[in-house]
Amino acid sequence: MRIAFYTTKPYDRFWFEPLGEDYGIDIHFLDASCDEETIVLAKDHDAICIFVNDYINESMIEKLSEYKIKGILLRSAGFNHVDIQAAAKHQIPVLRVPSYSPAAVAEHGLALLMSVNRYTHRAYNRTRDFNMSINGLMGTNLHHKTAGIIGTGKIGQAMIRMLKGFEMRILAYDLFPNSDLDVEYVSLDELYKKSDVISLHCPLTKETKYIIDEDAIGKMKKGVYLINTSRGALIDTNALVEGLLKEKFGGVGLDVYEEEEGLFFEDKSNEIMKDEVLARLMTFPNVLITSHMGFFTEEAMQAITIETLENAYALKNGGELENAVTIKS
Ligand code: NAD
Repeated sequence: MRIAFYTTKPYDRFWFEPLGEDYGIDIHFLDASCDEETIVLAKDHDAICIFVNDYINESMIEKLSEYKIKGILLRSAGFNHVDIQAAAKHQIPVLRVPSYSPAAVAEHGLALLMSVNRYTHRAYNRTRDFNMSINGLMGTNLHHKTAGIIGTGKIGQAMIRMLKGFEMRILAYDLFPNSDLDVEYVSLDELYKKSDVISLHCPLTKETKYIIDEDAIGKMKKGVYLINTSRGALIDTNALVEGLLKEKFGGVGLDVYEEEEGLFFEDKSNEIMKDEVLARLMTFPNVLITSHMGFFTEEAMQAITIETLENAYALKNGGELENAVTIKS
């Protein structure tokens, strides 16, 4: 089993190199991201392994089929970056890591919330310059406030458990409400209207693209905190900027951005930032952006590595493909 491993970062090598050997899997680490130009690098491999900002469209699937690729291994839970229908048509299984550490992502979401809520991101810069003034840094309590959780799957539930520690009231919205959860499922409109904090934990699908648009923002409380650790395109970023300009938001914490491909995970500090929307977002004192790192803990990286290699091992041995993405999922 020889794998073309796209978009290799030092931390990928650190985890995958030794464990790949243990599984008897030959990993060919590539610096290149996966796109229409680089898909040719998949030739002479049995499978490819990609990350969240690599994408696979129908014409690339056709090439993979020509190259007799046996499977696409995702180092992620989300799979919106792969044309699943095309993969099914060509009988190329797409295997993901459905649950590596919901706590890792939820804890990062909470870190974003607690930073924008108390301006710790700004206080850090001030005190390093021995500016000990606290003017302009007054926050708000989370205690007894109302949180609206969109998507009550694994990560949403981990977030709910933590927010309950603040004795917050939890409103929730999900296509498939979970009756085992001690939350109040409400309509999206009600969630927007009543929540002091809104945290996004649903996948990016045709239905959820721009679920937070101008209309949704218009329905939210003034001073609301919006946290997105799911996928950037859940939010219409232009509408978000408008909302920020109208001082609608108490704070916004984003771990993902709709145009993050080619930007996030890369060091662009010596370049002129061409993305004007991202540049604008960075200017708001109540916006904190991290570079898609919710997953990035030791525990999660270890779990991602093991599960991806288990998926590769099942492909190699013709075992049951438990983590195959189906059109329904
Ligand atoms: P999950 O599948 O356990 O839960 C997703 C929930 O969203 C489910 O309950 C589902 O019913 C619900 N849902 C689906 N469509 C919906 C809709 N139209 N409206 C409302 N709810 C809907 O997934 P998870 O493990 O909790 O992950 C959630 C998302 O987090 C992933 O899709 C991924 O995009 C993102 N993620 C981000 C990072 C990161 O590093 N920032 C890491 C892992 C996952």
